[in-house]
Amino acid sequence: MAKRRLSHRQKNRIRDNQQSASKSNTGLTGLVIAHHGKKVKLELESNEVVDSQFRANLGNIVCGDQVSVELTEGNEYRIHSLRPRNNLLQRLDGYGKPRALAANITQMVVCLAASPPPNLILLDQYLLTAEQMQIPVVILLNKCDLAQAKEQFDTIRQIYQPLGYAIIETCAISGKGLQDLQYSLDHNTSVITGVSGVGKSSITQWLVPDVEIRVSEISEANEEGRHTTRTSRLSHLQNGGQLIDTPGIRSFNPAPVPDVAIANGFREISARAVDCQFHNCRHINEPRCAVIAAVKTGNIAESRYQNYLKLMEQEQAR
Ligand code: GDP
Ligand code: ZN
Repeated sequence: MAKRRLSHRQKNRIRDNQQSASKSNTGLTGLVIAHHGKKVKLELESNEVVDSQFRANLGNIVCGDQVSVELTEGNEYRIHSLRPRNNLLQRLDGYGKPRALAANITQMVVCLAASPPPNLILLDQYLLTAEQMQIPVVILLNKCDLAQAKEQFDTIRQIYQPLGYAIIETCAISGKGLQDLQYSLDHNTSVITGVSGVGKSSITQWLVPDVEIRVSEISEANEEGRHTTRTSRLSHLQNGGQLIDTPGIRSFNPAPVPDVAIANGFREISARAVDCQFHNCRHINEPRCAVIAAVKTGNIAESRYQNYLKLMEQEQAR
């Protein structure tokens, strides 16, 4: 049979397809650095940053995810599988449902400020989630330049320092304390959280001055044509650390990790629970409860215990 003559265009297409196929077989891997609608920004092992699609059956893909990538026939990148995660930070949406936010985190930075006034129940919620995820926390007290800061920050130190939490005071305007924060971020993948207005953007800008340039291209109109912001983004820090922030979410309630008791997320409560009369004591109203006894003697801070009760109540209502 006579050999079919191929046009130039056909020959080029076949060559491109063969190249794509061989590239996709090389086992490309990438790190998710931003996610927006149907697109994900990936950093490949070569450090090249590319836009990528993903297979619909993969579920949620979030910042910090390690993924395997292939090149499609159209020469576009597509995530075809997700590497196993070490952990997953989830937030509760408006309906109380968990939504994935960031993966493979090694540290949580909870940012509070002298203004808006510190919200200790939210802090305890973050601490609870971090304990359950078994990652350390840095409590960041920003706006230490404000007049009311000293009294507020002293109260927080009194409660949280004896529990072993790292506390750093900063002023994002003068830069005070930001070097200490930078050291604690070295070699970690940290997520920075906290309510709107505490100074997260100012701090992130100081730590990663070119952050907007790196990620600005991903902002685009979503399917409804509205302009939306990213839900999270990952930036590289000077000394090998990575910082994930969530500019698209003004403030979020972290989702407790399922199947891990809330009491385990309160260090001082889990430490004393071994002395309760009942091994399944919930430390609410049980007789001879070592936790309630410690609250009465002031060895457990009243605010921590009250927040524990509120979080127990919330969980039971769910
Ligand atoms: P975010 O919503 O947590 O990202 O907070 P921003 O970084 O946008 O900061 C909110 C406001 O607080 C801005 O007007 C900042 O200039 C201001 N701000 C941030 N850090 C400090 C600080 O350390 N001291 C004072 N006085 N103001 C600050
Ligand atoms: Zn008890």
